[in-house]
Amino acid sequence: MDKHLNFVHRVAVLDQELCQPRKCGQECILYCPVNKTGGECIVQRPDDGKAVIFEDLCTGCTICVKKCPFDAIVIVNLANEVGVDKIHQYGINSFRLYKLPIPKEGSVTGLVGRNGMGKSTIINLLSGNIKPNFGNFDKDLNWEDIFDKISNIELRKHFEKISTKSLRTSIKPQLVYLIPKIFKGTVMELLKKYDERNMRDLLIDSLGLKNSLTKDVSTLSGGELQRVAVAVAASKDADYYFFDEPSSYNDIYQRLAVSKVINNLAKDGKSVMIVEHDMSLLDYLSDNVFIIYGEPGSYGIVSTLQSTKIGINNFLEGFIPTENVRFRDKSYRFDISNVTENMISNMSIVSYTSMKKKLGGFNLKVNNGDIHQGEVIGIVGANALGKTTFMKMLSGLEKIDEGQLDSEVRISYKPQYLNQDIDGDVRSLLYSVNNGQQFEGSLMEEQILNPLGLRKLYDKSVKGLSGGELQKVAVSLSLVRDADIYALDEPSAFLDIEDRISLAKFVQRLIKAKGKSESLVDKNICGFHRHACGNKRPPFG
Ligand code: ADP
Ligand code: MG
Repeated sequence: MDKHLNFVHRVAVLDQELCQPRKCGQECILYCPVNKTGGECIVQRPDDGKAVIFEDLCTGCTICVKKCPFDAIVIVNLANEVGVDKIHQYGINSFRLYKLPIPKEGSVTGLVGRNGMGKSTIINLLSGNIKPNFGNFDKDLNWEDIFDKISNIELRKHFEKISTKSLRTSIKPQLVYLIPKIFKGTVMELLKKYDERNMRDLLIDSLGLKNSLTKDVSTLSGGELQRVAVAVAASKDADYYFFDEPSSYNDIYQRLAVSKVINNLAKDGKSVMIVEHDMSLLDYLSDNVFIIYGEPGSYGIVSTLQSTKIGINNFLEGFIPTENVRFRDKSYRFDISNVTENMISNMSIVSYTSMKKKLGGFNLKVNNGDIHQGEVIGIVGANALGKTTFMKMLSGLEKIDEGQLDSEVRISYKPQYLNQDIDGDVRSLLYSVNNGQQFEGSLMEEQILNPLGLRKLYDKSVKGLSGGELQKVAVSLSLVRDADIYALDEPSAFLDIEDRISLAKFVQRLIKAKGKSESLVDKNICGFHRHACGNKRPPFG
């Protein structure tokens, strides 16, 4: 076919887990107009019967997308000019990445974008963990072929150095919970092993790791593990440092500590690339950013280099003027004044005198206050200051040493740490919380599950959920319960920036509509706090 006639480039992505050929009637194959006229656009994989979609034959009619009972197919049309810049594709009908950020020596480069857009893929490519395949997913290209395909001179130089190992890289991986599977031993042993820059003591001090040193790596909390991982990455002697989501699990102070470590690397003249959903942190750290946009799980496109302020604003705006690309139909704004006080009723749900609680060596003092119907309270504070204990005191789960409540309230609590060790799929989990009652087609599904995008997850196994997916399931589980106060402990951890903002807005609307009250414990500066802090009186003294 004449290439010039082919203006659009089709991307067909199949969610391997959702495609269930034994449970459906092969509707995608049956209804595909190309198949109907004798073509073979969609066929079954010989081994497991799952669908394979040939993008060259696909007309982009999206009938298969609509007919698939499990929402397993995504078809998108891409401008052809993007198609020629394909850098990597994991397999047939799977995610692909277009373009790459150009590494800049001696500066801090940020990557901004939703989950599933390929940010970790970019880090793996630029650090030499995986080789780019330019869409030839069944071939292992040699480096000469790879250099030939890269037109940008700086990028080619970067890969030349990677191939000869003359550029040393150090990575703080995104999934820190995998570290205990690779390394057995104490924190001190781990830090000693990689202390190539002789910075161990300084890093232990600045990242607050003194009390963690003798602990076994497998017993660390998420935040400790994250800071240990940051320390390990920073202590290696490298030219280029990659930090993939270094602030998850950590509170505001610990995040600042992490930023200082990264900032010091930059001051030492090192090159740094950082993926981060906390916009204030990214703003503080990076010299420049690249926006990654596209369709989560299907494809990601890397923008041109943007200065940090302009890039973050473009991201929130959903529009990149230099490329004339709009990648979202709405823009996000942080408008503190949009919390309307008049929506909060005068009816108090619970009022409490000043309260005290002693737990071992830990003393919590709470100033008197009350919580009103329809109120959304943001609770800010470092880790381990007693935010969770405060919630438990309100619900009667924790005895109050001094002071009292006028009534005990029913609290539906979304814990900070989520339990994933549950057999079965999301549907059966929701079923059990709904007292074994059918919820599909119910009001609860319409009001809570659909807006949070849970329908797509019904058939997924709980054990196989990503951090963000698990978070959404946990938030839903707490919101479907009947209670007076919904206490969401760190609901934005693992969510990407867009999900954080839309979840915050959704929860706020729902709570107002239900006439309930809500406490949010969240350390993420961006997204929640500016929206959620309706209460001017901090509950802690
Ligand atoms: P991000 O870091 O922006 O969240 P990732 O780079 O981790 O995005 O992933 C982008 C997409 O690529 C996701 O849909 C993910 O499931 C897919 N993906 C990542 N690694 C692999 C792999 N090794 N094989 C197949 N698909 C993968
Ligand atoms: Mg990632």
